[in-house]
Amino acid sequence: MSPVASSAAPGPRNVTVAEVARRLRGETQVLVVSHEAPDGDALGCVVALLLVAEGLGIDCRAYIPGEASFPPEYLFLPRLENIVRGAPPALEPGTTVYLLDCASLLRSNSDGFARTSPRVNIDHHQDNPAFGELNLIDPAAASTTAILHEVFKAGGFDVDAGVATALYVGLVTDTGRFQYSNTTPAAHRMAAELQEAGVDVSAVHQQVYESTPLPKLLLLERALSHLEVRLGGVLVISWLGNDDFAQAGADEGHAEGIIDTLRRIQGVRVAALVRERLNSGRAETKVSLRSTDGSVNVAALAQKRGGGGHPRAAGFTSDQGMRAIAGWIEDEIAVQIGARP
Ligand code: AMP
Ligand code: MN
Ligand code: MN
Repeated sequence: MSPVASSAAPGPRNVTVAEVARRLRGETQVLVVSHEAPDGDALGCVVALLLVAEGLGIDCRAYIPGEASFPPEYLFLPRLENIVRGAPPALEPGTTVYLLDCASLLRSNSDGFARTSPRVNIDHHQDNPAFGELNLIDPAAASTTAILHEVFKAGGFDVDAGVATALYVGLVTDTGRFQYSNTTPAAHRMAAELQEAGVDVSAVHQQVYESTPLPKLLLLERALSHLEVRLGGVLVISWLGNDDFAQAGADEGHAEGIIDTLRRIQGVRVAALVRERLNSGRAETKVSLRSTDGSVNVAALAQKRGGGGHPRAAGFTSDQGMRAIAGWIEDEIAVQIGARP
């Protein structure tokens, strides 16, 4: 029957999509959580699960840590106003927490939930430490929305145009518009199924990629003006200080995707974007790392500084200043590519 993690239940375990679907159907209260600085997959997952849980008559809330506004390209998604920000909400007994696309508990700011509520951890990061009581982790999935889609199909839940659109946003953004190496035949099949379920592909494209607010482009301009090509062109690195955000009239959400432009430069194998931000009033540095050809595992690099991600897309945060971090990245890459002993 339903694999409920109670105090009498055995420790953490891996579950199938069918088990998660069965459990979801039996829930009365859930909290849906995703990672700070949410991307299209994080927001797509949360919205899709909110809509499906609502349809099942489940009392459903959502939480994403951080205070900064969501990236503007995703604001067309429904239910975003229902997502609690800042400190995690207090949970009533009997609530199950669904953590989606969270490579680590740290990024979901929800360590404390463990004491009161079972956690279902659904993710596609290969370095996810299986921190849930129930874990559904598939590194072969192109996006976490792809795993959710399988859960919904296994449960026979209604994937209407709204749900399909949220799932599609996660898929199209995490695959870089079906161009990254995670663009498998399964990813294309999922896209086809979602389109049949009612996704207006060109409308999503228009919202996500062709409705850029001017401050975001001005921020890109500043990132390009700080761009430094190092290690003979192998590494491109740039930075955005508080001042850059202020001058561009931009906030943290506008930085989403800027790394993708840096990575495009011919010959670049690793791209890094280092930026300042405030976390609960404390200054910190957030780092995004991308590998263009897989020759450098940026997830392994990020892990050295307490972060994580995928081999070709990873990140971490640090208390160190931007200059020191840029220097550290250069030194690490230099050793990895054999440019320095
Ligand atoms: P980003 O550069 O923020 O777009 O993140 C790229 C990838 O790295 C995503 O898959 C994230 O889940 C992961 N990532 C970013 N920052 C962190 C962090 N502080 N800890 C763990 N994973 C991270
Ligand atoms: Mn994500
Ligand atoms: Mn993802």
